[in-house]
Amino acid sequence: MAQSLVAGSNFGMFSDRTRMRMVERLRQNGISEERVLAAMYEVPRHLFIDQALATRAYDDVSLPIGQGQTISQPLTVARMTEKLLEGRAKPGRILEIGTGCGYQTAVLLKTGAEVFSIERLGGILDKARQNLRQAKLVHARLVHGDGHLGLPDVAPFDGIIITAAARQVPPALLAQLADNGRLVLPVGDQEQHLWLYEKTAEGMRQTQLEPAKFVPLLPGKQ
Ligand code: SAH
Repeated sequence: MAQSLVAGSNFGMFSDRTRMRMVERLRQNGISEERVLAAMYEVPRHLFIDQALATRAYDDVSLPIGQGQTISQPLTVARMTEKLLEGRAKPGRILEIGTGCGYQTAVLLKTGAEVFSIERLGGILDKARQNLRQAKLVHARLVHGDGHLGLPDVAPFDGIIITAAARQVPPALLAQLADNGRLVLPVGDQEQHLWLYEKTAEGMRQTQLEPAKFVPLLPGKQ
């Protein structure tokens, strides 16, 4: 493999093999959606993390990305993406709330989704834009704004993923789901759970998933 040729560098830590090990761990932890596993194998996660922490990029941990925000651990990213795509031949149009470092955005792009992502912190969004450019993933539409409002002009969305914990599901976002659309988000404060909302012909189906730990979804933009 290529990394063995780069003598004296730490390239091996960021190699194909390291990503493959991460994917194997995801499988062992119950992730079975091949599109998600393939996307996470392809995205160079270390490019989304500060250099000082990059050696931990493929560990199953969340890491700080500045301004008190965090990149979610790989298992959480995989799980939420899997729930979003479950039962869908094509990912379709996806809205992400909380761009953060752009890693989840990158994974969504790699699954073939059309991705819109809203971030409330301008500085963080600039960094995400840089990270995505470095990873050569430039076709997401990144918006500086308050995700509570969604993007009514672009709606409806086949999937909405919120990567910050809401006290309750923002009503505007539920309204922007397409028929058969899916919304995945953490709900709670100190105690949080992931929830799945599915817009079915019979109405909105709500399913509580596993416990979660996210930074809070906050109002307004800065
Ligand atoms: N998906 C990200 C996770 C980032 S952490 C990643 O892969 O790195 C959650 C992010 O949500 C933070 O950057 C935070 O600023 C942002 N956020 C919180 N409330 C928001 C809101 N109302 N609208 C948009 N972004 C919000």
